[in-house]
Amino acid sequence: MIVDYSDQIEEMEKYNVQDVLLLEKVYYKLLPWINNHPNVAIYKGSNVCPTCGGTSLQRRGWAYTGLGKYQRFQCNTCGAWHRSQKSEKLEEHLTKDKNG
Ligand SMILES: [Zn+2]
Repeated sequence: MIVDYSDQIEEMEKYNVQDVLLLEKVYYKLLPWINNHPNVAIYKGSNVCPTCGGTSLQRRGWAYTGLGKYQRFQCNTCGAWHRSQKSEKLEEHLTKDKNG
């Protein structure tokens, strides 16, 4: 006896297609909160969002470390925050710290 599963297969195919499209939307929604996501800027070049590759970045203050000050950015596409890898001049940073 041969069972015809063509209806079920067709239904599963329809489900799988919409499931993949839905999952893609969820992925982009959660992208800013994925801390260990691969750095997209490596493939897309500099001046792009490392999270999504978007080019619309807004300067949003500074990030300070023990060795320097870095421009902070927020991506207008995905909302993720990151900072420049290039430090402002260290001397300027140290001078500002001494003078307040
Ligand atoms: Zn982004």
